[in-house]
Amino acid sequence: MRILVADDSRTSRMILSAVLKNWGFDPVLAEDGKCAWETLQQPDAPGLAILDWSMPGLSGLEVCRLVRRMNITDPPYIIMLTSKGEKEDIVFGLEAGANDYVAKPYDNAELHARIKVGQRMVEMQAEMNRVKSALSYEASHDPLTATMNRRAVLNVLEKEFIRSERESTQLTIGLLDIDHFKKINDTFGHRVGDEVLCGLVRVIEESIRVYDCVGRYGGEEFLVITPSKDNVIKEEVYERLSKAVSSAQMQTAAGPVCITLSAGVACRKENDTVDSLLDAADAALYRAKAQGRNRTVYAQ
Ligand code: GH3
Ligand code: MG
Ligand code: MG
Repeated sequence: MRILVADDSRTSRMILSAVLKNWGFDPVLAEDGKCAWETLQQPDAPGLAILDWSMPGLSGLEVCRLVRRMNITDPPYIIMLTSKGEKEDIVFGLEAGANDYVAKPYDNAELHARIKVGQRMVEMQAEMNRVKSALSYEASHDPLTATMNRRAVLNVLEKEFIRSERESTQLTIGLLDIDHFKKINDTFGHRVGDEVLCGLVRVIEESIRVYDCVGRYGGEEFLVITPSKDNVIKEEVYERLSKAVSSAQMQTAAGPVCITLSAGVACRKENDTVDSLLDAADAALYRAKAQGRNRTVYAQ
């Protein structure tokens, strides 16, 4: 584990560095507060920092305050080294965001024990962050196709809708539904159906632009969101998409499978709400199915 040692006394830095190496840590040295602050802002900053209280320029206390203002998910564990043993100073240090303090001259065994506490905290925090991001991924993604799930894509729609109202820009959405998908399941089995769904998502993702997005809206129904700043008609995007899908061969265990899509596309109008926009796309999709499928219908 890398540990930042910030101390303006070269001798103190060298002694602590040697001790840390002896305990199996990897010390990173800073000769003053400014240098420590720079190191702690790096993306690969050490997880634990031992800061001398008194340093020229930025004191350990000030570095501590700056670090706590960073608002990051993996802040360093900070141990303050203080030669002032007074109670108010300790209170100040802890209030500035230090996790612990050790009075100088420190006892090696005590410092080692306190570093180990810090190390456990840093490891626990890293594990919590890992779990948190795994949970947040699971909560927002469809486990089969790994695209956004209904909740996540509706969240994006909500945000894009507000943005498009505020900035008076266009917002178009498309509801895409695989034609006669039940037949694919009935003919080849559910597993092949699953592979087709995954293949379709890849084709959609390759056909849309970077600022567009797609999510699984229901079983074999997908919602595509295409915001735009200019007045370029979105038809181009949806025509390209449906062509890409109908000409693609989805690779499955039963060999290549071809599908077609029906799409209902709607553009946000004055007085629209998210729900009325979705209803308009849904009604257009219904018409696409009624008119014989394998087509895109635009809401008027
Ligand atoms: P239409 O052209 O009218 O849309 O016909 P369709 O057969 O595609 O539509 P329908 O709503 O009758 O059937 C949808 C099918 O999609 C039925 C359901 O079993 C299947 N389905 C939904 N989710 C999944 C899934 O995750 N995997 C598989 N393999 N099939 C799914
Ligand atoms: Mg269908
Ligand atoms: Mg359907």
